[in-house]
Amino acid sequence: MSEFSLINKYFKNATARHNSTIIGIGDDGAVSRLSPKHELVSCTDMLIAGRHFPQHTPAYAIGYKSVAVNLSDLASMGAMPFAILLAIGLPKHLANDAFLGELTQGISDICTQFKTQLIGGDTTQTDSLTLCITALGSVPCNMAIKRDGAKVGDLICVSGEIGSASLALTQILSTDNSLNNAPPTNTHLDNTLSHLDSTLYHALVLPSPQVALGQKLIGVANSMIDVSDGLGQDLGHILTQSGVGARLFLEKIPTNAHLKKLPTHQQWQHIINGGDDYQLCFTLPSDKFCAFNDANPNSIFVIGEIIDGAGVELYHHNQKIQLPIKGWQHF
Ligand code: ADP
Ligand code: MG
Repeated sequence: MSEFSLINKYFKNATARHNSTIIGIGDDGAVSRLSPKHELVSCTDMLIAGRHFPQHTPAYAIGYKSVAVNLSDLASMGAMPFAILLAIGLPKHLANDAFLGELTQGISDICTQFKTQLIGGDTTQTDSLTLCITALGSVPCNMAIKRDGAKVGDLICVSGEIGSASLALTQILSTDNSLNNAPPTNTHLDNTLSHLDSTLYHALVLPSPQVALGQKLIGVANSMIDVSDGLGQDLGHILTQSGVGARLFLEKIPTNAHLKKLPTHQQWQHIINGGDDYQLCFTLPSDKFCAFNDANPNSIFVIGEIIDGAGVELYHHNQKIQLPIKGWQHF
């Protein structure tokens, strides 16, 4: 059973609806109305060593990225983050000052950057390092940007380079195959990562959630998602939930200079089926794009358009491209 059919079958309607729920399961974050003016946006994401990050990822980066991926989900709803809760499963050999000092420094640095406070959590001993972060944010009532609002004729945009993290991961795993198998220590991946180009390193290990842009797109974007599982699959969620199709122009998608050096088919694999980008993908009418682009030059990039129909059609310089859209599959 796929992740999404499992969620839909077992979790989507597992409990009775509550009056305060504006958006429940199925978007990047849940939206709850607490007062007539503001809504709470909440989301949670779990990261497990060896599955979501290579075993030897530096503790600082584990802390930083665990928060970043959650703030990215809030950003994709247009929410302003204010707090996180951290549930951590810690193997005994990592319950030491060196590891925890670095981990919390990573958490602290990104929280400071986005004015977010760690307000609670839970700590337990486990075999594999596991971090589960819940992030809380707020949006003005009825303003959260959902996945189901895309309209035929909308332009499709992204907030930055796509495919860089996927390229970085491929490079790391090809240089050092032992990374996913060896028991965790703190220095091994540091050495491997130091050979990566710094822009690729940042894309994979220290992604920047697009929090300010997400909020600016309130009232501008008709639909939005963050790209965590691959542009093809994540845009696919907007399309299914909005009941529309899309045409993507591969040559317009912003990419890293290192990615451009690869054969085109490999580039497209990273761009469409990679993942871990934590850029925003959103749709908006063309007049709103022009106004936004004039006021915020070079911050958003048109990569396609919403059309009647279903699914994603890929084009490269007007030529139709066949590329199976897979994205990240958990099961
Ligand atoms: P994202 O990639 O943005 O983190 P996911 O694809 O992981 O979102 O999840 C899709 C939706 O399913 C989200 O609304 C999420 O909250 C919900 N969801 C995932 N797992 C569960 C679960 N075990 N119980 C309830 N809801 C879940
Ligand atoms: Mg998301």
